Amino acid sequence: MATALAPTFTAPVTTATAPLTSTIDRTTLVRRLIALLGPEYVLTQRGDLLVYDADGTHEHALPDIVVLPQTTQQVAEVVKLAGAAGMPVIPRGAGTGLAGGATAVRGGIIISLTRMNTIRSIDYANRRAVVDPGVVNLHLSQAIMPHGYYYAPDPASQKSSTIGGNVGTNAGGPHCLANGVTVNHVLGLEVVLPDGRIIQTGGVPDAPGYDLTGMFVGSEGTMGIVTGVTCRLMHTPETVRVLLAIFDTIEPASATVGNIIGAGIIPGALEMMDGPGCKAVEAAYHAGYPDDGTSIILLIELDGLAEGLDELTTRVITICNEAGARSVRLAASQAERDALWAGRKGALGAMGRLAPNYYLQDSVVPRTKLPQILNYVTQVANEYKLQTANMFHAGDGNLHPLLLFDRREKGAIERTLEAAMEMTRACIAAGGAISGEHGVGFEKRKAMTIAFTTEDLAAMAKLKRTFNPLDLFNPDKVFPASQGCGEIRELKASAMPAAYAKIAEPRPGDPIPRARGPHYGHGHDAHGMEEMNAPGGASVGGVDEYSHTSANEHGTTPAEIDDVAVPAAND
Ligand SMILES: Cc1cc2nc3c(=O)[nH]c(=O)nc-3n(C[C@H](O)[C@H](O)[C@H](O)COP(=O)(O)OP(=O)(O)OC[C@H]3O[C@@H](n4cnc5c(N)ncnc54)[C@H](O)[C@@H]3O)c2cc1C
Repeated sequence: MATALAPTFTAPVTTATAPLTSTIDRTTLVRRLIALLGPEYVLTQRGDLLVYDADGTHEHALPDIVVLPQTTQQVAEVVKLAGAAGMPVIPRGAGTGLAGGATAVRGGIIISLTRMNTIRSIDYANRRAVVDPGVVNLHLSQAIMPHGYYYAPDPASQKSSTIGGNVGTNAGGPHCLANGVTVNHVLGLEVVLPDGRIIQTGGVPDAPGYDLTGMFVGSEGTMGIVTGVTCRLMHTPETVRVLLAIFDTIEPASATVGNIIGAGIIPGALEMMDGPGCKAVEAAYHAGYPDDGTSIILLIELDGLAEGLDELTTRVITICNEAGARSVRLAASQAERDALWAGRKGALGAMGRLAPNYYLQDSVVPRTKLPQILNYVTQVANEYKLQTANMFHAGDGNLHPLLLFDRREKGAIERTLEAAMEMTRACIAAGGAISGEHGVGFEKRKAMTIAFTTEDLAAMAKLKRTFNPLDLFNPDKVFPASQGCGEIRELKASAMPAAYAKIAEPRPGDPIPRARGPHYGHGHDAHGMEEMNAPGGASVGGVDEYSHTSANEHGTTPAEIDDVAVPAAND
């Protein structure tokens, strides 16, 4: 196998201080939730819960209960009830996440925010809008477009992902190169804390005190549930040009990325797609991409004032040609621009033409390292006998190798995840990061020990405990499970309290054991990912047969851990 390039730190980090305790039983809990929200917004039937058993990743686990509140106050009341029942709470937007962040890996209550989908106010004079967390990203831009404004962070999932979910993961997107990612466009938040209190952060320019808004953005639901977002509105650029540059190999395409930015030009977007990706996308969308299976494309968007944009476009075309582009085409009409972007934004949906399943890797490297890393990705994929396709935000150095596989093949998922981990290590060694935009969630938490030292992780864990001392919100996310003695502490901390274990026992009519801990159901369903719909929070992965287990990911059951004497958790 390819050599691991990065040092690995072992990091015994404890993130929780005390197990949850329960003062009300399940029946009382459900009764109170129904009284609060109405019976149609409290889901407890297995068939309903299955819809929420995964996000866009491989991990599946059933929540105990799903609730769909419509107001901030209702969210706060649900949180208080969950605390009383000793049940973890997992906030969820559209469930398009690609790191397992919205999956109830320890069971508990999923709070789906999709019914909170109102744009509360729009203030063009101050260029801001206040929205509910369940507003679909694209809907905000559509609402303000007639006034010449848009919301800049545009994940390729923007037709379905929610602004609350985008805040949870600090989402990026093709047009974040020039304007920055979600954190740069969130001016303030309304947040429900684990004790049910509601706080406001930011909201005024240069708000004094600590930057709590920045802290909550990207915290993946582990410290607070976002129930309101003040978004920055951007003025629509006067003019836009879109170029399609085609290259025979990866090196000149990568060099072009560095040369454009090195020349002091920051395009609105600078995306790369390789041959297999282009071929599948072209067959699906007729976007105008080369379909020979080997050509590499750069999609370059330039925007700004009309004056000077032609000159800038000519400069960029020259840079492409000098680096060795085979051709450079300027989209001649809005229809042509739309077609080029439809190909890129719908690209994941086209992957079903290549394989039944894919795993989408997400890492960042300095853009100068792109050729080296892309070659390494190919090398690892070959060693693990995996087909790949690449489509990514090249200007940001944000890689997205898609590892294609068929989950019905024995060991395919494990092989894919191992290959992905090798790629992650290589990105870190190249000076990069373990995630460019999808977050850490459940899936990448092991990689945190590659990227951070024990001291780094301990500082983060301390911050988390300040807001979430009982690990009520989204447990088992972001932080790696500890090792050695730390592992015992972690296992103890994450073990179900007796009352909660009771709740998790099979109920009459349950055909299979209820899940505790994730299992690999199947990979991302490669068909129609871009068709996903936010309302109801439908899961991307779909429904599968289960091999649920009551053991946690370490293969240890809560009963086994219960016997271990656990010292008080320290920092
Ligand atoms: C086809 C496709 C393309 C994608 N393209 C991109 C891309 O270009 N850029 C990118 O960044 N991502 C992309 N993603 C990943 C995903 O869409 C983003 O991570 C998105 O931000 C998730 O939003 P969501 O509403 O689906 O959140 P979910 O998946 O439901 O949740 C994501 C995380 O946020 C937390 N969360 C959700 N709502 C709240 C809340 N109100 N308060 C606190 N925490 C909350 C959850 O607990 C979870 O940890 C893509 C996914 C798909 C399927």
